[in-house]
Amino acid sequence: MRSSEHITERTSAQEALRKGEERFRVLVGSSPNAVVLAAADGSITLVNRQAEAMFGYSREELLGRKVEMLVPERFREHHPSYRAGFVAAPQQRAMGAGRDLFALLKDGSELPVEIGLTPIEMPEGLLTMATIIDITKRKRQEAELARTAAELARSNEDLEQFARVVSHDLQEPLRVINSHLRLVNRRLAEGLDVETRQSVDFVIDAAARMQALIRDILAYSRVGRQGRGFVQTDMEAVVRFAISDLAVSIEKCGASIQYGRLPTVTADSTLMLQLLQNLLGNAIKYCAEGNRPEITVGAREERGGWLFWVKDNGIGIDPEDAQRIFQMFQRLHARGEYPGTGIGLSICKKIVEYHGGRIWVESRVGEGSTFFFTIPERP
Ligand code: ADP
Repeated sequence: MRSSEHITERTSAQEALRKGEERFRVLVGSSPNAVVLAAADGSITLVNRQAEAMFGYSREELLGRKVEMLVPERFREHHPSYRAGFVAAPQQRAMGAGRDLFALLKDGSELPVEIGLTPIEMPEGLLTMATIIDITKRKRQEAELARTAAELARSNEDLEQFARVVSHDLQEPLRVINSHLRLVNRRLAEGLDVETRQSVDFVIDAAARMQALIRDILAYSRVGRQGRGFVQTDMEAVVRFAISDLAVSIEKCGASIQYGRLPTVTADSTLMLQLLQNLLGNAIKYCAEGNRPEITVGAREERGGWLFWVKDNGIGIDPEDAQRIFQMFQRLHARGEYPGTGIGLSICKKIVEYHGGRIWVESRVGEGSTFFFTIPERP
């Protein structure tokens, strides 16, 4: 090869390099984020306009100075060792994983930021490209959200405390009323006329209903406060327990309950039992007259957890009512038709949501109902 060819080759290689560098500068310049490039020793070699605007320094004031000038005083001491760590094992990553990062501006104020680091090989050595994003707005929104969540939790707590205290304190006098009424009724039954006896029966019935209501409100307010915490829960065993608790009503109406293989999930096992007792209890109760309840319980693995269902061949539900039955005291039938307080499904909803899942029903009047709920995997 002749020496002139050598020179031409070298010049075109230099030309390509120069062009590459030029393109890189244009790219950095057009980035919507602030970008600062620093050499291995921490001296700033390139900044874009966004960085100038963010930090309040001109390009001339930044070039050649150490990046530490953009780091608040209290973090400055450790910065060179972090920088050295990055140069020793250069790979693209977010800076300060888990730490709150702040940028120091020329006027002395600070900005919460997120910083991405990218190593860039240049002929003059390894450069670190830092992309800096101002996250003041996000931080403010996060703080706002945390405050609202805390307020909500507090007012929920107050409400639950109120429900718990009231229902607990009401239980006692009601028990007294109920038992003494029964006593009086037994003693006076002979001497009472039909109308008066009917009145006494109404009062006894009302007191029993009120007891059931208070018991259910108490159960509702207790969801998530009294359990054993999240443990490995064998859902097949839970279903078996629920069935044995419901043995009397199952026998009375000749219900059949089938279940396939059910998984073990991380859940509060007491609450899972309560959930299945409620759903199976309803599946047995809301059966068309003269029919035998046929119920199946199943589960399927889904992305991020498990989907369970309880399917019955009962009276069904108008899709229009499918949402409201999960609200407290919402019932679709008169008490005389089917007994109940209208709290069972709101307890189910609270239990499922406590586990981070969802509950819903798919049904049509006269075609049975399928209640679905999800239990997400816990990390
Ligand atoms: P309760 O059974 O005490 O009335 P729930 O909250 O458990 O209260 O249920 C609310 C309403 O949803 C019930 O009154 C009933 O109308 C309807 N429902 C619940 N489960 C079923 C079901 N398996 N089949 C048909 N209707 C149901």
